[in-house]
Amino acid sequence: MCGIIGYVGKKNNALDVIIEGLLRLEYRGYDSAGIAYVKDGLLNIEKEKGKIANLKEKLDFNDKSNLGIGHTRWATHGEPNYVNSHPHKVGKISIVHNGIIENYSELKEELIEKGYEFKSSTDTEVACALLDYIYSETNSIEQTIAIFREKARGAYALGIIVDDDYNHLYAVKKDSPLIIACGDNENYIASDVPAILKYTNKYIVLNDGEFAKISADKILVYDENADLRKVEVKEFKGDSNAVEKNGYDHFMLKEIYEQPEVIKATTLPYIEKGVDSLVDNMPDFSKYKKIDIVACGSAYHAGLVGKTLIEEFANVPVTVDIASEYRYKKLFLDEETLVIVVSQSGETADTLAALKIAKEHGSDTLGIINVVESSIARAAHQVLYTKAGAEIAVATTKAYSSQIALLSLIALNIANNKTMKQEEVLEVLKGIRALPTQMQSVLNEREHYKEIAEKIYDHDSIFFIGRDIDYALSMEGSLKLKEISYINSQAYAAGELKHGTISLIEEGTPVIALVTEEKIAEKTISNIKEVKARGAKVILVASENINISGDFYDELILVPDANKLIKPMLTVIPLQMLSYEIAKLRGCDIDKPKNLAKSVTVE
Ligand code: GLU
Repeated sequence: MCGIIGYVGKKNNALDVIIEGLLRLEYRGYDSAGIAYVKDGLLNIEKEKGKIANLKEKLDFNDKSNLGIGHTRWATHGEPNYVNSHPHKVGKISIVHNGIIENYSELKEELIEKGYEFKSSTDTEVACALLDYIYSETNSIEQTIAIFREKARGAYALGIIVDDDYNHLYAVKKDSPLIIACGDNENYIASDVPAILKYTNKYIVLNDGEFAKISADKILVYDENADLRKVEVKEFKGDSNAVEKNGYDHFMLKEIYEQPEVIKATTLPYIEKGVDSLVDNMPDFSKYKKIDIVACGSAYHAGLVGKTLIEEFANVPVTVDIASEYRYKKLFLDEETLVIVVSQSGETADTLAALKIAKEHGSDTLGIINVVESSIARAAHQVLYTKAGAEIAVATTKAYSSQIALLSLIALNIANNKTMKQEEVLEVLKGIRALPTQMQSVLNEREHYKEIAEKIYDHDSIFFIGRDIDYALSMEGSLKLKEISYINSQAYAAGELKHGTISLIEEGTPVIALVTEEKIAEKTISNIKEVKARGAKVILVASENINISGDFYDELILVPDANKLIKPMLTVIPLQMLSYEIAKLRGCDIDKPKNLAKSVTVE
């Protein structure tokens, strides 16, 4: 993952731009941070383990610099310590790197034979030595990059400074994100646009295989054949406020509270003119006999919700796979199969690879993506955008619920006039219009979630159970809790618990049980009684229409009733809020959980 930023210019101080940019990119990794900057004709490198705040303390901002590169790391090769931190410098070359050089061991051996010595365990230092070696032979950075691209396998976005030329910043990209941002007498590189929004909203997308030579007043971009190409300067329309906490204690809480707005923005294009907009603004799905949904993490859980809805309402069989598995399994793809890939960042390496495989097999692909112009958005045949805006907290909330919203609309689109009458479809559209208000009412119960969190936050193990769509939601609730509170948690299909895991239930073990569907409520309630009888402390999350009479729960959270196509977006809110409040009580670093990062650009 990692965040990269670079600056060349005459207006600002490279140190200020880089540290501010890194703070905005910290969601991408926070194992260590580092900066290389030129001052009085000399290159200085500072690095520090841990968060950017630690690096910041070491710097003297009275140092003025016109050229620099910075990095916040999510370690893939070598532990997160000082020596493995970026930037790396070998000979005349200094680099920051996002990605993985897959053949780094063989390259390392070759370079050791040539006399190079390595201090770190990273693949990045090997890339740096390789660049230095080629540069020492060619004396041309353009030729160096061309040869590097042939020799290095894997994914990389690199920011490069060459000791012979402190007037230029260099960048090269393959399968990891990188943009060039354009200012007035100053230019930048960054892993994403919000990192430099304080300075400019104009940017150029660097495509795979491309190389850029950037000075304060000129940007030259060479395509993969090393030909100079015309650049198209784009304007980022996003809101820079989106990257501020706006008074909330954490980005995660702010993003949970943004969900009514986000759901409204995401669904509006498909509901505003009734069934017409549902039909006209979505692709035509009629030719597909089967759908494969491919994703990772929470997006995979959104896919499981989508499967239930598409199969039940639209009568089309759906498989859901984890992208890193899908890539290597036997696939049954043809032109009547639609492959839907779901990714917040649109850069998820495994999902991108799965998408490419689906295309090679001749299937149509559809991306459900949050970040416009991201790699997956550009590679998929068609894209439906979630309008979640910038999501900064590593644990996803609003992007997840907006992914469900789009999958639900896909189910509805296919069902329209086929398995559902238009009046029924219209009724659901009406429900979607009312959803933001219903979501707000669930959000308003924060005090209640806090009280429940107080009662369970010090447990080492918390279970989630549910059937059917509630099972898919349980998986997301359990992941959320694990991610940010570090409590061991498992999600179980309610009927499956007694086939093994019920042995883990002890006196007082919290079990969060989801019951939102009338037709299977009784069955799930029987399973809840089974755990209750074994001492579990049951937190029941039930839909208002369910009959919950009886003494089988300790705490109750009611969510408003709604159509099954809508309800998951209500049910998930208490699960997000409980995770948040529990993690807060445990003193966890909620927005930046340990070992994680947001945009997973490694495989
Ligand atoms: N492979 C590099 C390292 O471990 C960069 C990792 C990344 O981009 O996530 O330092």
